[in-house]
Amino acid sequence: MATATTLPQAGILTPAADHHLHIQSPQVTAELRRVAERLPAMFAGLNPAILDSRSGADALRVLDDAGVAQGVLLSEAYMYASVFATAGLANPARLTREENMFNVEAAEHSGGRLKAFIGVNPFCDFALDEIRYWGERGGAAGIKLHLANSGFEPDLEEHIGRLASVFREANRLGFALLVHLRPAGTYNEGHIDRIIEDVLSQAPDVVIQLAHAGGGGGLDDPTLLALERFCGAIAEQRPGTRGLLFDLAAVLVRDVGDSANVERLARFVAVARSIGLDRFLIGSDWPTLCSPLEHTALLLSQMPFDDDEWLVLARNRADYLD
Ligand SMILES: [Zn+2]
Repeated sequence: MATATTLPQAGILTPAADHHLHIQSPQVTAELRRVAERLPAMFAGLNPAILDSRSGADALRVLDDAGVAQGVLLSEAYMYASVFATAGLANPARLTREENMFNVEAAEHSGGRLKAFIGVNPFCDFALDEIRYWGERGGAAGIKLHLANSGFEPDLEEHIGRLASVFREANRLGFALLVHLRPAGTYNEGHIDRIIEDVLSQAPDVVIQLAHAGGGGGLDDPTLLALERFCGAIAEQRPGTRGLLFDLAAVLVRDVGDSANVERLARFVAVARSIGLDRFLIGSDWPTLCSPLEHTALLLSQMPFDDDEWLVLARNRADYLD
């Protein structure tokens, strides 16, 4: 099966899988372009290719370039019910279904190399219907939730309740969850404890992969604080933490010459070691910043793991890839 080889000293690492990729149909690309026209600041500093359509074949090509056997497609269908969605968009439920189908079909035509996660805004009124549709049809490995994009307010009881019901449904249907947890607004210890207590506990039997290692891309103090809270919950074997995984997608700093960033990277590695490296997955978030090959080189150049640790990270594969 998939093997990983690595020569970290030479700056080369070949992960067994890329656990965080995005393709886009022309339809969702058109919506993204409308958003980018209205909110250009949201896209500043990102790879301009994010505004082009990409297929499953494109994903296989960038995986081949990096020597990576398998990849995980995270549907961007949640864009249609996001807080940034074009006002008055006709039939967001149908558009959501079509984008999810685009991702699932790409996986189905990949000979087992690609797995698809459907996307949906968990706070929209058709969220559970969409999840149940895929439970019946099959073909999806899990559900991607982008909570910043979905307007998550962790102090709202209603939001915690809706998230809990989506996690419960995923658990019932055997869907892995892949969650960009960090909201656009504040993110503190109280919020994380509440999420562990009331949300993670609802999906004790499935993988819960926290995108960007529990942050929102980049590596700042709230992300480290969140990771430390999750570390404590795992040590206490809290319900919902058995299948908890963290992907390294875009967990990068912009300025490695900055001493505060050097300290953050060292602190990240220390927390990852105490959580256990078997819970950390390579993922690139292609094409948000760069290609999988370039992303792995950036991780290698920034994170002070030793060679043996990089080997472990490169070999890690989430169960849903089987
Ligand atoms: Zn992503």
